[in-house]
Amino acid sequence: MSRTKKITTMNPIRHFTELQRQHPEFTESQLLNSNNKTTFTGKADVVVAGGGILGLCYAIHLKNISPDLKIEVFEKSPSPCQKIGESTLSPFSTFTTGDILPHNYLLRLFALKDGLQFYCVDQEGREVTAHDIGGLDISYQLDRRMSELFMTMWAQSLGINVYHGVSIDFDVSTVADPLADSLSKVNLNAEPRPFSAPKVLLKDSSNTIGTTVDARLVCDASGFSRRLTSKFGGREKFSGWNTDSYWTYFRPKDDSKVDDERLLGWNYPATKHLCFPEGWGWFIGLISWHHAPLANLMDMCAHLIKSAEAGVPADDLPSTRSLSETFGCPFERITSIGWAVRDDFKLPADLSAYGSGEGEQKFNFFKKRYPDIDKLLNENYELLPSYYESRTYFVKKGLSYRSPVVAGEGWLAVGNTAGFTNPLISPGINAGIAGSWRAANLTAAVLTAPVEDAKAAMTAAAKDHQEFMHDFAVPRLYKHNLLWYNSFRDHRLFEAGPRTLWSVTFEEVDDHYYGDERAKYTEADARWMLGSGLDSFQDLAAEILDVLDGNNGGAPPSEEEVQKVLAISTRTVQERTGRWRNQWGRWLRQYDENLQKVPGKKARNSGFLVEAKPCENCNYFVHNRTNMCPVCGDKVEWEAEAMM
Ligand SMILES: Cc1cc2nc3c(=O)[nH]c(=O)nc-3n(C[C@H](O)[C@H](O)[C@H](O)COP(=O)(O)OP(=O)(O)OC[C@H]3O[C@@H](n4cnc5c(N)ncnc54)[C@H](O)[C@@H]3O)c2cc1C
Repeated sequence: MSRTKKITTMNPIRHFTELQRQHPEFTESQLLNSNNKTTFTGKADVVVAGGGILGLCYAIHLKNISPDLKIEVFEKSPSPCQKIGESTLSPFSTFTTGDILPHNYLLRLFALKDGLQFYCVDQEGREVTAHDIGGLDISYQLDRRMSELFMTMWAQSLGINVYHGVSIDFDVSTVADPLADSLSKVNLNAEPRPFSAPKVLLKDSSNTIGTTVDARLVCDASGFSRRLTSKFGGREKFSGWNTDSYWTYFRPKDDSKVDDERLLGWNYPATKHLCFPEGWGWFIGLISWHHAPLANLMDMCAHLIKSAEAGVPADDLPSTRSLSETFGCPFERITSIGWAVRDDFKLPADLSAYGSGEGEQKFNFFKKRYPDIDKLLNENYELLPSYYESRTYFVKKGLSYRSPVVAGEGWLAVGNTAGFTNPLISPGINAGIAGSWRAANLTAAVLTAPVEDAKAAMTAAAKDHQEFMHDFAVPRLYKHNLLWYNSFRDHRLFEAGPRTLWSVTFEEVDDHYYGDERAKYTEADARWMLGSGLDSFQDLAAEILDVLDGNNGGAPPSEEEVQKVLAISTRTVQERTGRWRNQWGRWLRQYDENLQKVPGKKARNSGFLVEAKPCENCNYFVHNRTNMCPVCGDKVEWEAEAMM
């Protein structure tokens, strides 16, 4: 990260607010596009369709490993805006640490996150049981307007051109059909190039650049709109039931209040999963910059980027609060809350008692169905009507799918355009980063190959990417998802489920996590897929799903099925006991070092890598790897043991 000598502070520069003052007619896109280092030439080595998080991660990693490549990213929205998908895990933070900036830089912009907490609630109003895992790595809860803005400007600082307000389409009539012939029909119209790429068509709302750009290779990162992948087939759905989601945003009334026995450890910066037979709900605490003007935010991001370039140590950076005051960027604490529920559950035909409109009705139906959830929301969170746009409630249906073709001659697809499963355990960005990171490596290999080898390299890269994304990643994540959902159907399965999964999926994480933080994202991270990449996990999932899965709407399993699955669970944990190097009590609040639940244990054992607590001054969370609260700048005391 440190590109030059270390200095300790930087004077604030108000370049973008000044530009906006001098040119009030500038649109947000023009402001953002003015930050590109070079002008549009109509030619690029790589064109990325979509400046969302995974397109930007792809472009940044590619530029880091192949600095000479000319990369252009085109984003149709006029400027970064709210998006769902806020919770990140170690894979993303390992990527950002290696490819972008260390934690304490990014924690000036994003809320701290440590791990995942799961609560099983029932209709009688009891939190039946709870699990959590954390202490492994510092990660973030992302305000997606900010993540996309900061990463856009970081990409621009590396020399990648990112254009907002430019929509992409593709003409694939000249590209070989990747399904038909394994790319053997290359070079249809593009001599002297060794392979052709989809023709890029641009629609620029500001009319400042052309209508096409000539690219050697194209990366489709257009998210759910599947701009390029849709040309090669509709969404492939998995057989059986799917899931739908309903969500909205709240302001916490007072986070520190909600820490009672029923909701163990609620006041902790993990992503919370409230699980119930038909699905689950997320609670994600965010630092929102929604009310800050774009030009001010750009000045603030530019300041952080320039500080990084000058090698300013993170501890010498101004706090979030100080940055906010200097640059006129108000921020506030909000909570993203939503449900992801099975679509084979039969909802009542008349939901009018729950509000107006599908999003509100279905959100409120599940809220009220579970007294623990209803009480939690009513007592501790205040709805933010129309916080984003004019809408209050959001709906996304049919979450699980994959695109049948995710790579071909001259192109690769990353992120949601390739496929998605479900937000449970946050695979979107965190497993999605694997596809972006690998696609960037494959792209570099293709574009730096000697010309005589380039066609073979492209064929191999497309095959590799297709196998990874379509055949490996998405179906494995999907199975992961099925396993969790089925464990929500009975509290005994919920109780046994995570421990069984951890006993398998974390076996091979020992090498990554034991003893130190990881510095760089690797192929092992990419193939681990939040545990889904392991064959041992897949075998376990197949065995359990053989007993449990089906279109049952989340109805309770029979006693015989429960006993069968509990027997599999006991056997699995027993087989593995003694094989881990992990000391589980460090990562799991309620378990001992051998993955046995200890009645009454409510804290992790000492010796963890990461611990968090609320800052006594501002109440935002701070982690044990710093003595300074990144949000307010106050000094934070830690026991010597916690600072190991
Ligand atoms: C309900 C829900 C909850 C989720 N929660 C989480 C979570 O907590 N954690 C997590 O990791 N993931 C989560 N996800 C998944 C997460 O949102 C995605 O995985 C992530 O946003 C994928 O990034 P992406 O870059 O592929 O797509 P996006 O972030 O959607 O980016 C695609 C970009 O392409 C642009 N675009 C589209 N069409 C064009 C075009 N024609 N030309 C130019 N640009 C175009 C779009 O404007 C957009 O900016 C969730 C998803 C859902 C549905």
